[in-house]
Amino acid sequence: MGILNKMSAVKRRRIRQKLFEKYEGVCQLCFGELSPDEFSVIAKLKRNNGGDRRQTNMAIAHTACAYKANDEEQRQKNSPQGYSSLRFGGRKC
Ligand SMILES: [Zn+2]
Repeated sequence: MGILNKMSAVKRRRIRQKLFEKYEGVCQLCFGELSPDEFSVIAKLKRNNGGDRRQTNMAIAHTACAYKANDEEQRQKNSPQGYSSLRFGGRKC
């Protein structure tokens, strides 16, 4: 997921750590346990759904879950609702 690609490695690591603590190491897509060394940062709301690049719009997930969500997003692209934050369990920041 490219959301952090434009940041420096140090900043990226710091944000990842923060997010990991914020979500208590729990995948926000399947709510399974994550390894601190291997997880993906995901955008809760896509930009065209009002999302942005702030940390409040970021969540963590297994890389596999993130890919799966992305696939689903591609499939739902043309549906009326599109991709929503429903998959994130309604947890608010
Ligand atoms: Zn997961």
